[in-house]
Amino acid sequence: MTNKLKYFVGNWKMFGDFTSFKIIYKISQFNTNFSKFQRKYKIILCVPSTLIYFFESKMQSRLISLGAQNCHHHPSSGPFTGSISSSMLKKVGAEYVILGHSENRSEGETSLLIKKKIKSALSRNLGVIFCIGETQQEKKRGKTFSVLRNQIKKSIEKKSRLNKIIIAYEPVWAIGTGKVPKIDDLKKIFSFIKKEFKKIYKTKSLPTVLYGGSVNEVNVSMFSQISQIDGFLIGGASQSSKKFIDIIKNYYK
Ligand code: PEP
Repeated sequence: MTNKLKYFVGNWKMFGDFTSFKIIYKISQFNTNFSKFQRKYKIILCVPSTLIYFFESKMQSRLISLGAQNCHHHPSSGPFTGSISSSMLKKVGAEYVILGHSENRSEGETSLLIKKKIKSALSRNLGVIFCIGETQQEKKRGKTFSVLRNQIKKSIEKKSRLNKIIIAYEPVWAIGTGKVPKIDDLKKIFSFIKKEFKKIYKTKSLPTVLYGGSVNEVNVSMFSQISQIDGFLIGGASQSSKKFIDIIKNYYK
């Protein structure tokens, strides 16, 4: 484990209502005590956009940041029925937005569209949690590395504010399935993503790269042995304060 700032990001997906604030409250109580004597880490909870303003106004601790799970590519307002822009998210208190999640890619989001969304989010000073990952079939065909390279290259513009982008490696076959990659594969993939990013964007600093896909309070100890992993994007388990807290505790055990 390195001394670098670690991230625990929750993706609530289509879950939650006003009463779900109790989850945030419990995480924040835990966090206030635990963060005092533990290593450096940051919690970001990406909740449904309908809840951001309410949660933001009730939150007393600044130790937890709120994020959204998608946005429209147009940054302000316009005739886009049913859509929410990056500036709207910023105004209700979001600091981050997840973009390129495989659940949205599977609904037709292309790399080109994701590129526009990333540009829009960065223009409103939102941090971007950009998801990449191969499908089961791509993995079987040995295409993992080329898929990841293409997803990065096609969606992040060369002159972007790279320090506002966090990459989340989420193999599609691991999301919500209980399956996780092998340690050796993860080490290779994380090194590849970091090296490739430096090469493409001609930058000296390594990007922050999270792992996502069926992370839970048990398997997190295995991931903690991989120093290249800068944190986690946690879906299902982030809908329970106990599971989310246990993931953090067990990571540092
Ligand atoms: C996700 O939706 O980003 C995710 C990682 O889900 P889960 O943890 O449930 O696999």
